Amino acid sequence: MKKEDIKNLTSDELRKKVVVLKESAYRTDQILSWLYVKGVKSFAQMSNLTPELQKKLANSFYIGELELAERLISNDGTQKFLFKLEDGNFIETVLIKATGRETVCVSTQAGCKFACKFCASGKKGFIRNLKPSEITGQIVYLKHKLNFHVTNIVFMGMGEPLDNYLNTVKAVKIINDEKCLNIAARRITISTCGIIPAIKKLKNLNLQINLSISLHAADDKLRSRLMPVNKKYPLKKLINEVENYFKATNRKITLEYILMKSINDSKCDAEGLARIANQLKATINLIPCHEVTGHNLTAPDKDAIDRFIKHLRRLEANVTLRVSKGTDIGGACGQLAGKK
Ligand code: SF4
Repeated sequence: MKKEDIKNLTSDELRKKVVVLKESAYRTDQILSWLYVKGVKSFAQMSNLTPELQKKLANSFYIGELELAERLISNDGTQKFLFKLEDGNFIETVLIKATGRETVCVSTQAGCKFACKFCASGKKGFIRNLKPSEITGQIVYLKHKLNFHVTNIVFMGMGEPLDNYLNTVKAVKIINDEKCLNIAARRITISTCGIIPAIKKLKNLNLQINLSISLHAADDKLRSRLMPVNKKYPLKKLINEVENYFKATNRKITLEYILMKSINDSKCDAEGLARIANQLKATINLIPCHEVTGHNLTAPDKDAIDRFIKHLRRLEANVTLRVSKGTDIGGACGQLAGKK
C-alpha cells in the first residue's frame, strides 16, 4: 500500500482515520500537536502515543518535509526560499517582515498555466498542483526549522490557488485550525486571477478569509491581452461574482493592480479602476511593475504614479501603494519563477 503524507489530512479526516484504526478519537489532537506545534519528523517521537498506535500510523502514513535548496535575504529583510519537492520540482516561498507581523507568501502550484504577461511563474508553464502538505509545508518549515513567528498567510506565490481548489481549501483549513497552524482566517488571503466557478464555491464555504483579485486592467480588451484568463472569465461576470462573494461573506475585497508604464496607467484606466473598486467597495492595492526577465514592462515614474493615485482618490476610490519588498532577490510580486 502506498503511504500518504499524514499532513495531507485535515483534522476531521485524521479523526476518522484514527477511529478506523480502532483508536480513541482524542488521540487525533495529540498527533496534531506533534505535527504542527512540536514539528516532529517521525511517529516514534510521539511519546504520548502507544507503541502500537505509532506502528499503525507508520504503516499507513509518513511525515513529509520540504527540502530547502536555496535561501536569499534581501537588503530590506525579505527572504526568499527555494524548496525542492519530493519529485524533484522546485517552488518558491517568500517571507515578508513588517512591524508586528511576519507574512508568508505561499505557492500552490509548480509553475502556472495562466500565462499572465507580467509574471515569471506564468512563463514557466504548468508542472503540477501542490498537495495540501506541500502548501502548508512551506509554513511548517519556516516555523519549525527557521523559527519564524508566522502571523499572516497570503496565497500569492507560484500558481493560481483556485486552479488547485480542493488542495488550497484543505490547506486553508489546516492553516486556520487551532489544533494545527492556528492562524486566524482574517489573517489569510487568497489571491486569484479570477476563476469564477471557484470563487462561487469558495463563497459557499464562508471561510471568513480575505479575497484578493488580480485585476491589472479595467477593460476587457487590455485585460485579455495582459491576462489570457479574461477571455474565459470576462470582467463583467467576474465583478458580478466578486460582488456576490462580498455580499455573502461581508469580507473586504482587495484589487491588485500592477501599474505598468504606458499600458494601464492613463487617466481613463484610473477611471475604470475606480468604478470597479467603488462598485465592490474594494481597496485597490497599487503595485509599481517589477522587473521580470523576458518582458520589457516597467513602472511609471514617481510623478505618474502620484498622478494615478490622485485620479483614483478624486473619484473616491480607496487606494494604497504597496511598498515593494524583495525586488533585489526576485521575491516581489510577479517575480517568482521557482527556477534552479
Ligand atoms: S499572476 Fe498568478 S495566475 Fe497569472 S501567471 Fe502568475 S501565478 Fe499564474
